[in-house]
Amino acid sequence: MSRADSRLEVLLRPEVRALAAYHVPDARGYIKLDAMENPYAWPEETTRLWLERLRGAEPNRYPDPACGNLKRALKAANGVPGDAELLLGNGSDEIIQILLMALKPGSVVMAPVPTFVMYRQLAVSLALPFVGVPLRAGDFALDIGAFLAAMAEHRPAIVFLAYPNNPTGNLFDAADVARILDAAPGLVVLDEAYAPYADAGFMDRVGQYDNLLVMRTLSKLGLAGLRLGFLAGPPDWIRELDKLRLPYNINVLTQLSAEFALEQQAVFAAQVAAIREDRARLAAALAEIAAVRVYDSQANFLLLRLLRHDADRVFEALKAAGVLIKNLHPAGGALSQCLRVTVGKPEENQRFLTAFRQALAETA
Ligand code: PMP
Repeated sequence: MSRADSRLEVLLRPEVRALAAYHVPDARGYIKLDAMENPYAWPEETTRLWLERLRGAEPNRYPDPACGNLKRALKAANGVPGDAELLLGNGSDEIIQILLMALKPGSVVMAPVPTFVMYRQLAVSLALPFVGVPLRAGDFALDIGAFLAAMAEHRPAIVFLAYPNNPTGNLFDAADVARILDAAPGLVVLDEAYAPYADAGFMDRVGQYDNLLVMRTLSKLGLAGLRLGFLAGPPDWIRELDKLRLPYNINVLTQLSAEFALEQQAVFAAQVAAIREDRARLAAALAEIAAVRVYDSQANFLLLRLLRHDADRVFEALKAAGVLIKNLHPAGGALSQCLRVTVGKPEENQRFLTAFRQALAETA
C-alpha cells in the first residue's frame, strides 16, 4: 500500500471509502434523453428579458441569505399553504443531505425500492442505515402491508416517498401514503420532483400532519442548470433544518433567474403541456412493440422493460446510434432488463423510436 493509500485508509470514514461516486455520463454529441430535463429553450423574447434582469445582478456581493423574494414567488407558484415555511437547497439533492445531517447517529432512513438513488447514497455517506422496502413486482405499487410492517420493525426516523417515483414513473396510492403518514414514527418526505407532470400531490396537506414535509425542485420544470430545490413544512421543522444550510447556498444568478422564471408561467405551462402530450404519444408508440412493456408514467420519462432482449446490448446500440438514455439493468433485481427514457422534443422522440426499433432488430 502506498503512503497516500494508507493515509486514505487512516483518515477517511470507511463508508466514504466504500461509496461509489454518483456517475454522470458525458452526453456531449448525443440526443440526451437520460436525465429528465425539459428539452425546450426559452422563446427569444423571454431570453432577452432574462438577460436584461441579470444586468441588475451584483456578483461582487454575497447573495441574499434569506431569499425573501424568491420564497414568496415559490410559495405562490406552488400553492404552499400560508402557514408553511420553506427551506431552499442547491437542488433538492442538497435538501436530502440537510435532512439526513440533522438526524441522530444510527437513525434509520427508509424508502420503497427501486427509487431515487440519492436517498440511499446520502444515507450511506452519513453512516445512517438505509432500509429499502420492495415495491410490488408487477406494477411497482406500494406493498403497504410490507411497508407498515417494515416501519414497525425498523422505526425509521425518516421515510422518503418519491411521488411520482423515479425510475418507475408511477404515483403511489394516496390512501396508502396517508396510512404511512399516520403510522410513521418520524418524518415523511414526499419528494414531488416531477410535480409539473403529475395530476396529484400533497402540498395542500402540509400543516395537516406534524410529520409531513413536501420537497420540490425547479429542475424538471426546465431549470435544472440553476440548481434550486425547496422543502415546505411546519415552521418548527424548517427553522431547525435551516441551521444546517450553508448561508449562501442559493447564488445571486440562481435567485434572480428563478424569480424571473416564476413570472413566466405561460412559457413553462406550454412546455409542460407539450411534454405531457408527447409522453402519451411516445408511450403509445412503444406499447405497439410486442417485446417491450411500457409502464404508466406521471413523470417526464417512461420506464420500459425488455421482454425478449438484452438491455445492455440495446442500450449500447442506442448509444452507437447517438441516443443516450438510462440503462437500469445494472441495478439488477426489479429493474433487470429495464431502460428509462426521458420525453424529449418530438423529433428527438422520433429519433429514439427509430433507433430503438433498429436496436431491437439488431440484437434479437
Ligand atoms: N428527487 C427525485 C425523485 C429525482 O428524480 C431527482 C433528480 N433526478 C431529484 C430529487 C433531484 O433533483 P435536483 O437535485 O435536480 O433538484
